[in-house]
Amino acid sequence: MGYSTVHSLDEFMEGLKRRNPGETEYHQAVYEVAQSIIPYIKDKPEYRNSQILERLTEPDRIISFRVCWQDDENQIRVNRGYRVQHNNAIGPYKGGIRFHHNVTQSILKFLAFEQTFKNSLTSLPMGGGKGGSDFNPKGKSDSEVMRFCQSFMTELSRHIGPHTDVPAGDIGVGAREISYMFGQYLRIKNEFTGVLTGKGLAFGGSLIRTEATGYGCVYFMQDMLSHADKSMDGMRCLVSGSGNVAQYTIEKIIHLGGIPLTASDSSGFIYDKEGINEEKLAFIMDLKNNRRGRISEYADKYGAEFHAGKGPWAIPCDLAFPCATQNEIDGDQGAMLVKNGCIGVAEGANMPSTQDAIDHYLEAKIMYGPSKAANAGGVAVSGLEMTQNSMRLSWSRTELDERLRQIMMNIHGQCVEYGQQDGWVNYLAGANIAGFRKVADAMIAYGVV
Ligand code: NDP
Repeated sequence: MGYSTVHSLDEFMEGLKRRNPGETEYHQAVYEVAQSIIPYIKDKPEYRNSQILERLTEPDRIISFRVCWQDDENQIRVNRGYRVQHNNAIGPYKGGIRFHHNVTQSILKFLAFEQTFKNSLTSLPMGGGKGGSDFNPKGKSDSEVMRFCQSFMTELSRHIGPHTDVPAGDIGVGAREISYMFGQYLRIKNEFTGVLTGKGLAFGGSLIRTEATGYGCVYFMQDMLSHADKSMDGMRCLVSGSGNVAQYTIEKIIHLGGIPLTASDSSGFIYDKEGINEEKLAFIMDLKNNRRGRISEYADKYGAEFHAGKGPWAIPCDLAFPCATQNEIDGDQGAMLVKNGCIGVAEGANMPSTQDAIDHYLEAKIMYGPSKAANAGGVAVSGLEMTQNSMRLSWSRTELDERLRQIMMNIHGQCVEYGQQDGWVNYLAGANIAGFRKVADAMIAYGVV
């Protein structure tokens, strides 16, 4: 069915599901955006007649490839690699690479789709993409990870470039993996360009990139609070995850006077009633980044509670920062957060709340900063890393933090502008509409493409 003839969200979703069977995460991400965009473009023929939503929900291309590598026992292993190049209307494709055993095409399509709107919100010239593999780095030796990364990049290098597609890290891809991949790109292309972001400082990386997603997420919460005449001071905060995003979310909460109470990994969460302070955070960073240990060790060391196998969302709090993975807050947990008095959710992870959870936030009119707005700080500083690489210079930490702060304020401002509803800000609608407009306008200007 042509979009101009589509009358409702349900009809649109029916067509999308028919064209993308079984891709539940992709359906969920599109629904979350379409629920704001369809009412917005209802009386705007310039968007309706150009089939813009149908075009925006069909990725430019999806590349899928075999990745062969040898483990330490010389056994040949086979994984599948992907790059989803979703939309380059406003800049080169940009988005992370995820290595996790549950990676599927559906998950990468949802992430690439979200990335397109998020990158647009940063106001930097970046399109949307995402890639990854079902390779599980957990328990692998450094040499095995290196061999996998080299094999992955051998194929990926054909499809990326500083003006084409600039990947970065994501779950399971940190400084070590980016370095191995960048090194392999150099060997293959003999070209030193900023083709990946999140690089080491010695070879073109940017200060603040490591901190940017977590810091930006808390800055966004700070802006939502201050818009409601509140502050972070003394706020009891639930954080999930204990990886890159969670660590710097916790750090910035501490800096701004909040009290982080929890952290988690895929085995469970710790609840520290005293609050996680700088010293305890340093322990988490060492545990996760250097020793690749489990979060339960925190409970053993500091006498905190450890709860196996579930998220921290039943603990009473003022603010929640889901920073682990998609769909980690279901409808019941979302309802529990609201019931227990949570007044704000800022999403560090991508799509951590199910649609049912989101419905509870919106119904209760709490401050809900969706991932495409709240976690855009990471890709924003990646954009600044690209700029520094092109200019062949490095900005200072202070300058970059100020730029990050400004970008997050600007995103907040766009959400308020497009999300204002009867004296309340619907940040989800605001982020979706503001992100959509720029990409849609560029696509329409290009004609039928
Ligand atoms: P990391 O790999 O550094 O950390 C991921 C954390 O989430 C770990 O604590 C991990 O636990 C936990 N986790 C992963 N999968 C699951 C699962 N299925 N159930 C429970 N816990 C899980 O990744 P990042 O911190 O970089 O990414 C976290 C989230 O933030 C992702 O959604 C990512 O897309 C998003 N994001 C990241 C950005 C970045 O700059 N890094 C930018 C924007 C968004 P365990 O160690 O047990 O697996």
